[in-house]
Amino acid sequence: MTQPAEIILKRGKEESLLRFHPWVFSGAIESVVGEPNEGDLVRVYDSRHQFIALGHCQVGAIAVRVLSFRDEVIEDSWWNSRLQQAYTLRQALGLGDSTETTCYRLIHGEGDSLPGLVVDIYGTTAVMQAHSVGMYNSREAIVRAIRALYGDRIRAIFDKSSGTLPHNAGIDAVDGYLYGTPSDEPVMENGNRFHVNWERGQKTGFFIDQRENRALVGRYAHGRRVLNTFSYTGGFSVYALQGGATSVDSVDSSQRAVELARENVELNFGAQAPHRAIASDTFEFLKGVDNGAYNLIILDPPAFAKHHKVLGNALKGYQRLNAQAMMKIAPGGILFTFSCSQAVTREHFRQAVFSAAVVAGRNVRILHQLTQPADHPINIFHPEGEYLKGLVLYVE
Ligand code: SAH
Repeated sequence: MTQPAEIILKRGKEESLLRFHPWVFSGAIESVVGEPNEGDLVRVYDSRHQFIALGHCQVGAIAVRVLSFRDEVIEDSWWNSRLQQAYTLRQALGLGDSTETTCYRLIHGEGDSLPGLVVDIYGTTAVMQAHSVGMYNSREAIVRAIRALYGDRIRAIFDKSSGTLPHNAGIDAVDGYLYGTPSDEPVMENGNRFHVNWERGQKTGFFIDQRENRALVGRYAHGRRVLNTFSYTGGFSVYALQGGATSVDSVDSSQRAVELARENVELNFGAQAPHRAIASDTFEFLKGVDNGAYNLIILDPPAFAKHHKVLGNALKGYQRLNAQAMMKIAPGGILFTFSCSQAVTREHFRQAVFSAAVVAGRNVRILHQLTQPADHPINIFHPEGEYLKGLVLYVE
């Protein structure tokens, strides 16, 4: 095996790495010894040639994503131990062996010290998503480690990296099974059943990260008229019905998503459930809603800001959306509002919601401040890993 290339940092640029931040920015690099290809393992040294870290190199602002701060060999036993650590945490959370919840995130990138890798478990299928070429090139080792960890509890491993690899890497990734045969059994989440289509769905097929927030909707839903916007697979709608909502309307601009919501409601409550699935743009839909028609509204839009450059517009979008919902919600209504944009901080989001309350002229109190669940852990050395923000508001 050829020796990994060496990345030598400019003087002082090792500081963030000494605090275990797992990225090397391209501007920090003094020189490169060797000719690493994107995705290759590289060794990182400070200006005095002290070893700092080992990682996958990539093209772009982030030049290296760190796998280890120790000079070690990345081989099967290394992957096995990283996956085992991740699994041990999931077990501590009551996931892994649960029959009530059979879908969860096993690997959350930097949060599990595996930058660029996501692995979600859906019953007997694992879905992996590489966000870096290094992880994509490691997929055979990752498959071996998943199989070593789960044995015959995992029957299929699906690679869904085509949409998440960097565009400029020039890899024509084709999604497909790296191992086994999938089952089309529904998965369970807190005792609710969901059909998950990882082959065609968004992300890895399901928004696992809203599990605990959906459960909170269930707690507030009793006797309420619920509007679930940006409903996708109808996750919040199912929990609202489970919690005793008198009616639930799911709204999504995608016809396919509307059908998924309908299917999942039927799967749990049959065709007679008090549920309507409506294909519409949320902003347009809200315009036509009568004042007071709903007393529980969920706003869970896609990321309005995919990067910092569009932050201003994104904040205006959150403000407009929240103001519309606050104007329409019944007095004493409960508004669940979310942002999953990593570029939008908790403070930004709260500011946008504050402005919305001013515009709507309603008295608004914060009941809960929500975030991503514990199977999407945040590495304390990598605060960028915090992305999901939510507020539960009481609107008078
Ligand atoms: N709340 C969902 C996840 C939402 S994902 C869950 O818990 O699983 C975002 C969804 O918003 C997608 O399904 C997408 O089709 C939908 N969407 C995007 N723009 C929209 C718009 N302007 N109006 C309505 N739906 C929209």
